[in-house]
Amino acid sequence: MEATGEVKLVDKYMRKDVEDLLKRKFFVVQSFEIYGGVAGLFDFGPLGAALKNNVEQLWRNHFVLEEDMLEVSCSALTPEAVLKTSGHVDKFEDFMVKDTKNGQCYRADKILEDHIDKVLQKKAKKMKQEEIEKLEKIKAQADSFSQTEIGEILKELKVKAPDTGNPISDPVPFNLMFSTQIGPSGNAKGYFRPETAQSQFVNFKRLLEFNNGKLPFASASIGLGFRNEISPRAGLLRVREFTMAEIEHFCDPLNKDHHKFCLVKDETLPLLSKEKQLSLEDPITDLTVSEAVEQGIINNQTLAYFMTRTFLFFEKCGIPRSAIRFRQHLDTEMAHYASDCWDCEIETSYGWIEIVGHADRSCFDLDCHSKYTKTELLGSRPLETPIEVSTTYILPDKKKLGKALKRDCKLLCDYLDGLDEDERQSIHKQYDEADTEFEIDVGSKKITVPKDSIEVKIDTKMSMEEKFAPHVIEPAFGIGRAIYCIFEHCFRKRPDSETRTYFAFPAMIAPVKTSILPLVSNSDELLKHVYELKTRLNKEGVSSKVDDSSQTIGRRYARTDECGIPFAITVDNDTLTDNTVTLREIHTTKQVRIPIDDLSEVILTLSKGMLTWESIQEKYPNFETEKEES
Ligand code: AMP
Repeated sequence: MEATGEVKLVDKYMRKDVEDLLKRKFFVVQSFEIYGGVAGLFDFGPLGAALKNNVEQLWRNHFVLEEDMLEVSCSALTPEAVLKTSGHVDKFEDFMVKDTKNGQCYRADKILEDHIDKVLQKKAKKMKQEEIEKLEKIKAQADSFSQTEIGEILKELKVKAPDTGNPISDPVPFNLMFSTQIGPSGNAKGYFRPETAQSQFVNFKRLLEFNNGKLPFASASIGLGFRNEISPRAGLLRVREFTMAEIEHFCDPLNKDHHKFCLVKDETLPLLSKEKQLSLEDPITDLTVSEAVEQGIINNQTLAYFMTRTFLFFEKCGIPRSAIRFRQHLDTEMAHYASDCWDCEIETSYGWIEIVGHADRSCFDLDCHSKYTKTELLGSRPLETPIEVSTTYILPDKKKLGKALKRDCKLLCDYLDGLDEDERQSIHKQYDEADTEFEIDVGSKKITVPKDSIEVKIDTKMSMEEKFAPHVIEPAFGIGRAIYCIFEHCFRKRPDSETRTYFAFPAMIAPVKTSILPLVSNSDELLKHVYELKTRLNKEGVSSKVDDSSQTIGRRYARTDECGIPFAITVDNDTLTDNTVTLREIHTTKQVRIPIDDLSEVILTLSKGMLTWESIQEKYPNFETEKEES
């Protein structure tokens, strides 16, 4: 039998082996470890950082380059006004409960879910089917309850603090943003951004201009997001600082078709629709993406297109199809302005975890930034026949107004200056209906305006285009979560040895593509060849890591396997005369003898998935070795 590692879903027992390997090889460790660490903060070591870079690069190739997206890189520090306008200052919160005796804080929905899991684990056999279903339904909706609802449920189920069994407080909202001050005066409040999306919205006008005024188009950004999670846990899955990769696809609300939908329409995605969740059924697996859109299960082609592209991205990352599903948000879970949302979830030892949110956010974000900043954030669609477009002008007579209103005159004029067409039309209506005076609410106060101090004019033009507020379809990826899933799904144990563990990363994202090992470490001549080969591979775009230690070759293979390095080159005495080396592949541990001149091309094509290892084995002579030691 081939010495390939056994592929199975990591369970919570094997999780420890994965975590041990991650720590031992310094893929990921808790930040500020020697100070005792900080919950929810992690550092990537050399291998973890290299893998993360490769995953981000793959994401860039798969989305930004292949879809012609406009990538931006924006400030993480954000002034308060932006996040007040977007709703984050008032609403970006989770419900928190406290242990009433020791003050420990918990996220209300998470302790509810954990409590239900425990009850079902311990008591399901003795419970009636409808009781089980009731609990499962509550669990499915845990993060969509209101403050009162979740408080009542926690009481009804007699949920206690998980670490102590002490009573818990009523839930209270807790805002997840980290606040700060921008500049030394202390007057300019700001936040560390909780998502990269807002910077893309506020740059919409420039992005549209850059795209020559054409819609649809998508912007994208990879960068840090910060969330002051109430009780971070589950390693990289819930942290307080993490890399996000977000796409904002701006489109005409009247046409959410996607020009490349034909490329994905026959794919089948596992769809856990809202109906399936509430009736506790399995996901739909027998509909093509195009049927799902036709039947209204997925709201539109663009949303379905991105969901499918996400699915294909995770396949490239080494996640098996069977461990990926799409869960639709329940109506109670979705923001009021959103028309449809689907989370891409991946199965892990912690259960199914949301890795990407796909949301149709309508025109909410552009609308609110446009209103606050009085900046036009609109797109336009060409028309076949011209239409009449009217613009209303509210023209104050400043002399008369000054006399009548004194200091309020400036307040009113500034207010009128910032109105949009809808608001000007509503003032026009009030003006028409008034006899001698009418009231305008300028926000800070209501001002009574004499009718004869204002003139209203309407300008009408024919136009070949119609303006509209673009809708936004947003796939939002958590890169840290994706990487954790990759770790779990690529973890392997050799069937002949429990202790020989390794990461079977797809070569495309592996932290280093090949190791280079001199067969013996005490030969200067071999070492010279090894380092010349390294320089050459580096020039030709293949990353490598030399292990010239005195360990046996078997030990060194095991060591590079643990680092998830897919290939190993061994330089031996024959290399000195015939310029060939052995190339070993991580899963099969088989080796071929290959000319140095062919190495880079073979490794690069294998890494891009354009050649299989089997085809290399057919092309080059096998190199027989003794069984590798454990
Ligand atoms: P959201 O904007 O809440 O939909 O989050 C977008 C994505 O960011 C999620 O799908 C997750 O992958 C990731 N994410 C959100 N919160 C966290 C967190 N606390 N730790 C790690 N990743 C997160």
